[in-house]
Amino acid sequence: MAQSASGPAIEPAELAWNDGIPESTQFGDVYFSRDNGLEETRYVFLDHNNLADRFASIEHGSHFVVAETGFGTGLNFLAAWQLWRESVTDSDAILHFVSAERYPLTLKDLTRALAAWPELAPLAEELCDHYPPLTRGVHRIVLDGGRVRLTLFFGDVLDAWNQLSFTADAWFLDGFAPSLNPEMWLDQAITLIRSHSAPGTTLATFTAVGRIRRALADAGFTMRKTAGYGRKRDMLTGVLDDAGTAMRAGHNAPVAIVGSGISGCLLARNLAGRGIRVTLIDAADRAGAAASGNLQGALYVKLGVEFNDQTELGLTALLFSQRFYQPFSDNFWHPTGLLQLAYDDSEADRQRRFICRNHYPEDILKPVDQSEASRLSGVTTQSGGLWFPACGWLEPANACEVLSEHPLIEKRFGCRISSLTHQGKQWRLRDHQGGEIAAERVVLCTGHSSADLIPYEGDIRLKPIRGQVTHLPAESLNSPDSVICGKRYLNPFNGDCAVTGATFDLRDENPNQSMESHRENLTELSNMIPGVIDTDYLSPDGAERVDGRVGFRCTTHDYQPVADALENQPNGLYLFTGLGSKGLTYAPVLAEYLADRLTGQPACLPKKLARRVNAQRILR
Ligand code: SAM
Repeated sequence: MAQSASGPAIEPAELAWNDGIPESTQFGDVYFSRDNGLEETRYVFLDHNNLADRFASIEHGSHFVVAETGFGTGLNFLAAWQLWRESVTDSDAILHFVSAERYPLTLKDLTRALAAWPELAPLAEELCDHYPPLTRGVHRIVLDGGRVRLTLFFGDVLDAWNQLSFTADAWFLDGFAPSLNPEMWLDQAITLIRSHSAPGTTLATFTAVGRIRRALADAGFTMRKTAGYGRKRDMLTGVLDDAGTAMRAGHNAPVAIVGSGISGCLLARNLAGRGIRVTLIDAADRAGAAASGNLQGALYVKLGVEFNDQTELGLTALLFSQRFYQPFSDNFWHPTGLLQLAYDDSEADRQRRFICRNHYPEDILKPVDQSEASRLSGVTTQSGGLWFPACGWLEPANACEVLSEHPLIEKRFGCRISSLTHQGKQWRLRDHQGGEIAAERVVLCTGHSSADLIPYEGDIRLKPIRGQVTHLPAESLNSPDSVICGKRYLNPFNGDCAVTGATFDLRDENPNQSMESHRENLTELSNMIPGVIDTDYLSPDGAERVDGRVGFRCTTHDYQPVADALENQPNGLYLFTGLGSKGLTYAPVLAEYLADRLTGQPACLPKKLARRVNAQRILR
């Protein structure tokens, strides 16, 4: 299949293997030294950035940022991670490694290249387990229980440094030789390297080319030529404005989160995992009692025909959430695969255009015909569709309970916040019984009721959408083996029932189940997969035989989420809402992004996607 210029797939590295050493046929250069690649990495990049000492003296709860040009086989990354594990005992300190790669290795090549280093095997295995599909854009990979966060940008280095937000403590300048890869070493790239550096930032590179040394010196680095590794005579090191030290303390003040739905629980968990104390507040007596309280929900996103920023955000969210839920597969996550059915002519046409325009790696999705769709989903479908092998379904209420269990999360349930004021440096949250909670930083994860809490006079463009799901009892249904989505979604059985839904009722505030909504769910499901429901349930009184649940999801005027600081407010007020029916998919990456911002750590979203979730756009 041809790769479209704007499509998601990215061209992989083409390798030749000579004596077990990978060589790029695109550039005609080796990935690492033929003498001893690991020792060369340690010598050039770790030692000449003085990382052993700097890691060992990291402050409690702080973070350190290494940035690299050219991820390649990940050898430099693994060597830095290994040194971090040996040098840092503080489990709240985080190593961030930000790397750009124009031609990523396939998983097969990566695995083969890293097999050369037995002492790195456990780390290499963890990296390979989490290595993303080869799509352009940013992939945040959380490793070592969150102590190590890799921000992998698949694309050109100039785009990476233009799009990513971070300040490096140390640089590994590791493109191929400047003569073979001049683009990596353009003055423009060096200007961007400077813009992501601060006083005390160091750099090391294997090259000693005069033009590079002068360009880095012109950018403000104090450069030094020193002995190279092995047969290489010289290499370069540099430091920006020696006076300071780039090491910084994190922003560790506690955070109050109002709302314990999936977004509140994920954010609380994420911050607690980074050593931040969280107070998680909810009017209900347990987590996930409102819109996130369904028995089942699909992990799913409808990707647009155009690979634009909106589609890229959906894809980034989907891939991150699949990695995020992976460890919970014994618990609330069921990776059964998901079929997006071409349930009518217009959807079939949309899927055809989608497939023609875009090339997605098959580990993300592939088109399937009717018989393959039936085989994979375990029920007879009328058409084919798109198969997402790594999707599935979750138990959202259960997920909220599990995620909100952490020693650094203090739960304040049964506490309805009625107002928010800012005094001195603190936000004061008043509850309905006159109690008060004070916090420097507050995140509202309160769905559409956030509009009642934000101290803002104008219009806040958030709206509730009623959604009723129907619980189908075992005797009513041919249970599928995977999730099936179309006009409705249908999940495999969870115990003795399967959830289908949901209605999408704008301007309907009825909190109770209605027969009409059940009828709508049953009819739409039967139209989508004829024969899947027992006909008794389709009779006029069929709706009376089922149970269900009503929730109110919150959305924005443009149906895009919000995960941002409220800039018009005094410092420290954030909004995380508007996830609509996509909360299970979008919340993990947006929680990661907000936690990055709250802690002053490198952002996991590129600027163009961060703009799409800004809060300003919903205030009028
Ligand atoms: N650091 C790597 C490791 O540990 O294996 C080795 C890096 S290798 C010497 C250089 C890498 O830079 C290659 O993977 C190459 O594809 C990548 N590269 C070359 N030009 C690039 C560009 N313009 N933008 C991003 N990456 C680029």
